[in-house]
Amino acid sequence: MSAENSDRSSAVTTIYIDGAWRAATSGQEFDVLDPADGSVLGTASDGAAADARQAVDAATAAFATWSRTTAYERAAHLERAHALMLERAEDLALLMTKEQGKPLKAARNEVRYAADFLGWYAEEAKRVYGATIPSSRADHRFMTMRQPVGVVAAITPWNYPISMITRKVAPAIAAGCTIVLKPAEQTPLCAVAVFQVLHDAGVPAGVVNLVTTSEPGAVGDTLLDSPAVRKLTFTGSTEVGMALNAKAARTVKRVSLELGGHAPFLVFGDADPRRAAKGLGLVKFLNTGQACISPNRIFVQRELVDDFLDVLVERVAAMKAGSGLDKDVTIGPLIDAAAMAKMRRQVANAVEHGAKVLTGGERLTDPHLTGGQFFAPTVLTGVTPAMDVYYEETFGPIVPVIAFDDEDEVIAMANDTAYGLAAYVYTGNLSRAFRVTEQLRFGIVGINDINPTSAAAPFGGTKHSGLGREGGPQGIEEYLDTKLVGISL
Ligand code: NAP
Repeated sequence: MSAENSDRSSAVTTIYIDGAWRAATSGQEFDVLDPADGSVLGTASDGAAADARQAVDAATAAFATWSRTTAYERAAHLERAHALMLERAEDLALLMTKEQGKPLKAARNEVRYAADFLGWYAEEAKRVYGATIPSSRADHRFMTMRQPVGVVAAITPWNYPISMITRKVAPAIAAGCTIVLKPAEQTPLCAVAVFQVLHDAGVPAGVVNLVTTSEPGAVGDTLLDSPAVRKLTFTGSTEVGMALNAKAARTVKRVSLELGGHAPFLVFGDADPRRAAKGLGLVKFLNTGQACISPNRIFVQRELVDDFLDVLVERVAAMKAGSGLDKDVTIGPLIDAAAMAKMRRQVANAVEHGAKVLTGGERLTDPHLTGGQFFAPTVLTGVTPAMDVYYEETFGPIVPVIAFDDEDEVIAMANDTAYGLAAYVYTGNLSRAFRVTEQLRFGIVGINDINPTSAAAPFGGTKHSGLGREGGPQGIEEYLDTKLVGISL
């Protein structure tokens, strides 16, 4: 075998275009790291503008036929993908824990959540209904048709590396769209595993395409500048989402944005402090705080603060950090050194402005943790608006606690943010639960509930947290245009 051939046969092929796996056109590759110990887990093809263009061409060609399949045919593909993902659930969860770092139990939950989107939109594909509209003329009729928007560009983050993909791909292909997806550079291997599921489920060539890359700008710009791409769906930071939104406007694309959050968690004096503290401990440290709906500002009515903190600090101090593959680990690593630097800065800035660290507050230095970015789960009290942690998305295991005195005051404090994704309210008073929920300017509110998410329910934010909804009937609307038809009889 010639040197050229042997090079080609050993090339990494994580780009999926027109139904086939291939290497980057440039031949470039990049390493994928295990965040728990910094070791190299694998390699991905480093796609660039040329690969993105080929993917758009494949998706454009496939749209002509896929958009004309019946909803029943599209549903059958999604049902097969749903079954395959569940069959492979354990392998997918193990891969996710290694590549992204979350504890295995949380990875298993994410795979089930991811599969739910495939199953749910297999059914919803069959419920895309138009309408008939009364006309003012006796010899005239109106009707509407729902049609797929076209080729979709999707960009996803690393923190939920499998479910953020199915949350977009499932409704898009259920609606009859074709898609080109660029995953986060930290988690391309999870994306490859999802696309292998879609391939093995028989999704036709060109309908779903994947471009892995360490150069998001070049691939993103190619997708956004292409007039063939009619829709951008993005999940990631507000900063990047705003920039992409501006670029998408140049070709007037439909846009959905799932962006950052800074969730308030309100605990009223009539709530059970133990239950509230337990709920907070569970939801806050999910994925080491690296979740867009993670509670970041904990407002506790003054008379409950001591009871709440006693339970919370005891639970937090007992958490075990380590590789997500180790038994009983509840705190995985942060994704990278930049995340560690942000945690240190937020804590130092809070302490400088008068906050007290009740537990944690620093990098964990146990010998088995030094290969990864492990920050101790941290509880801060005495937090004020003068501190960075009050207004800036944390995206890590820091719990800032703020005392409040009355309902109007805490609603104003909770709404005092540019973000509007999730909020949580703990109260034993039903009237208060409704009053407060109606005044919170957030897209999602959990009332005595830490898990207000499901494939069947609309997920999304207001203000700088984004545009549009994913999940539920609203999730497929994002991929449909309405065509009005007038008929003279
Ligand atoms: P990010 O830095 O904005 O990255 C998100 C995606 O955008 C990645 O695939 C990234 O690629 C890509 N990207 C970055 N710059 C780009 C550019 N110029 N052109 C095209 N693509 C570009 O966010 P992240 O750190 O991965 O994720 C954390 C953020 O996501 C947090 O703010 C979190 O709240 C938010 N989030 C929101 C939701 C939600 O549903 N609302 C869910 C999960 C996460 P690279 O990886 O190659 O940089």
